[in-house]
Amino acid sequence: MRKYSAVISLLIILASCASSPLDRRQVVLYSDAEMVEQGIRSYRQMQAEIPATTNPRELQYVQCVANYIVAALDEEDQNRFEWEVTVFDNEQANAFALPGGKIGVYNGLLPITVNQHQLAAVMAHEVGHVLANHSNERASQSTLRNVGIAAAQILGASDTTLQVLDTGSQLGIFLPFNRTQESEADSIGVILMANAGFNPEESINLWLNMSAEGGPRPPEFLSTHPSPSSRMAELRRLMPAANALRQSAMGRGLNPDCVQN
Ligand SMILES: [Zn+2]
Repeated sequence: MRKYSAVISLLIILASCASSPLDRRQVVLYSDAEMVEQGIRSYRQMQAEIPATTNPRELQYVQCVANYIVAALDEEDQNRFEWEVTVFDNEQANAFALPGGKIGVYNGLLPITVNQHQLAAVMAHEVGHVLANHSNERASQSTLRNVGIAAAQILGASDTTLQVLDTGSQLGIFLPFNRTQESEADSIGVILMANAGFNPEESINLWLNMSAEGGPRPPEFLSTHPSPSSRMAELRRLMPAANALRQSAMGRGLNPDCVQN
């Protein structure tokens, strides 16, 4: 077991260390270029498999919100990718953003995000995952687990140990994010939407809509581990800063007017 730990420690040291935009230390094994390539490949595959909306007003609405969000990114992040948005014709209330700046919104989300601010809250949250390299981190953790299993096998670990290691070991770009990543995307997202001129208070209203009993299936934004109450509490904590940023954005003439009609 000591030998095994030594191998894992070495693997972690070999993995390059990075920091998220909120200064959390991350282990990332893949280069940006590799992640971008994988993100774009997955996106093109989805575009080939899932029909796009045929309603130009839906596309124009979502594109409008995306434009404001991307314009609010700092120059480096704006230029880091070719940001792109697709509205898929699918009843799921869902949205995602992939490495490479590829954003997808299912039109089933639009009746649930009742105004441009709530749609911006979801999209900015998804963009937050991209800015914080969460896919790289997640894929790296998965790879380390798999390499760990191989190493354990070589070192003759028991079957029980191997089973434990194997639990939850999956690789793929669409694995759910963990609690830390969700909180980070919430924080980055609410600041980003405010900088774009959207009303950050609506991120909390969206939570309230969604937590209503018998509500529709939640989008990725609302789906994973942190409890709704703790996420709302965290958003409320950020609200004074977010509101101030929105006021400042409005002072610069940023007053989004995206509508779906
Ligand atoms: Zn998320």
